[in-house]
Amino acid sequence: MPELPEVETICRGLAQHCVGAKVLSVRVMRPQFIRGSINPADLFSGLTIERFHRHGKQFCLESTRGRVLLFHMGMSGSVTLRPFQSKPAPHVHVLWTLSNNGKIFEMHHKDPRRFGYVRAYENMQFVREIAWFKLGPDALSITANELFLSLNNSRRRIKTILLDQSIIAGVGNIYADESLFQSKIHPLRKGSSLTRAEINQFIAELKLILKQAIRCGGSTIQSHADALGNAGTYQATHLVYGRGKEPCTICGALLKQTQCSQRTTVYCSVCQPRNSKTHRL
Ligand SMILES: [Zn+2]
Repeated sequence: MPELPEVETICRGLAQHCVGAKVLSVRVMRPQFIRGSINPADLFSGLTIERFHRHGKQFCLESTRGRVLLFHMGMSGSVTLRPFQSKPAPHVHVLWTLSNNGKIFEMHHKDPRRFGYVRAYENMQFVREIAWFKLGPDALSITANELFLSLNNSRRRIKTILLDQSIIAGVGNIYADESLFQSKIHPLRKGSSLTRAEINQFIAELKLILKQAIRCGGSTIQSHADALGNAGTYQATHLVYGRGKEPCTICGALLKQTQCSQRTTVYCSVCQPRNSKTHRL
């Protein structure tokens, strides 16, 4: 599933080529993929793209007239730029033809597993009030204090909390496992057991990892590709994700693999002890 770094990578690539572009036409191959209006004018036909916005794993493009298209990437979404009149790959559900600086090209939204969608909104305020108000702070801007308040009295496991988009938006299985490992926190500990110092450390490690992953174009595990179709490279530096039963790069113990919130979770039981030596103040 595309997480924050993968969506940010796609968004930055699209912005490079599409800001200032006029949408010449929209082709909807699968109307069920659109939530709400499928009127071409609502889906940006005839509009000019002015800017991009991202929050967590979702992003929007905003037109010069203020209208907005929200992209939810689901489990397997990608948005890539293709030459004019390219044959759409299987599972491309919506295709926009754009013109920018005399060049005509296309933007293809593909989603084989179909958990994603596109939705038109009248303006960004509606997106923030209707779609994004349910999301917690973006993982790149959340403060240690905001996370501390969410963990306060929570009996849920820290890994479960991190996957909850209403608490922190943008973290999924990859970056939850990697950041818990780097901050030496066992994924099955209760949220309320984390100390202030651990939360501070966790937030610092999480932001560092997300920024490094963005610099690498994200992690390509199955299908992630940037706006031009290139794979990311951050998967080469994963220390725990997908490495269950391999030796820990820090201590050499074999990494453990378990299920948490129905997601495979990998950790080192030596570097990430279950019983923290420190107690919450
Ligand atoms: Zn270890």
